[in-house]
Amino acid sequence: FSKRIKDDDHGDELGQLAKSFNILSSSLEKVEENRREFLANVSHELRTPLSYMKGYAEAMEEGVIEQKKGLEIIQKEANRLERLVNDLLDLAQLEGDSYPLQCEPIAFAQLVTDVVETFELIARQKNIQINSQLDEDSIIYGDGDRLEQVIRNLLDNAIRYTPEHKAISLTLTSKDEFSELVISDEGIGIPEEDISAVTERFYRVHKARTREKGGTGLGLAIVSQIMKKHGGTFELSSKVGQGTSARITLKNI
Ligand code: ADP
Repeated sequence: FSKRIKDDDHGDELGQLAKSFNILSSSLEKVEENRREFLANVSHELRTPLSYMKGYAEAMEEGVIEQKKGLEIIQKEANRLERLVNDLLDLAQLEGDSYPLQCEPIAFAQLVTDVVETFELIARQKNIQINSQLDEDSIIYGDGDRLEQVIRNLLDNAIRYTPEHKAISLTLTSKDEFSELVISDEGIGIPEEDISAVTERFYRVHKARTREKGGTGLGLAIVSQIMKKHGGTFELSSKVGQGTSARITLKNI
């Protein structure tokens, strides 16, 4: 798509047509560039855990590393691969039209409570306190599995990017037509210049640090797609060193 038609010396319909063609072709170029970049990212993300697994298997074979340690790392990397493939499949389904949401009325406070319960253990391990204030009147219309995934991804980040002995709060309010859930942490925060990009696939603020923390780089892209599909909203606000708030809204039933 690298051909441009000269469109500056026609003031007539032909000039207009040439202009439209050039706009179309530059947007196709962008799509193609995004696709290429995405493929390169996917390959890199898949290759990294695979190289670790191969490296450690070899080291074990040569007897230069203890078996227990080697197997532990291989298992950790296999889990990372599994998470990555699952997230990629989810995202592909969400971005296509072939996977409709399975919507039904949902008692939102109960759904949030169920997800929070599954995080209690890892929060306790990090001495992080989770405080919930949930309005029981909130009834929304949505896909329960997908909304659980949204809360799981947001809570997972909140815990992952928050140091020990800090707190996380979940506040659900239902007012007039909308329910609003805010998940706030007291973690490392996101710099202002990165905040609009973190919902892009594989965008990470601190690359090395996030890899060490086990994320796939797709969590927020998935959140953003699910909320879009629900006709809801998703916003992040953050202050470096103070913490991050994720806010989602959904229409009440
Ligand atoms: P990851 O799997 O890397 O966490 P996400 O898509 O969930 O991928 O998030 C993208 C990036 O946004 C993260 O790598 C991290 O740098 C930043 N981020 C997300 N949530 C938070 C948070 N609560 N606090 C600080 N940084 C965050």
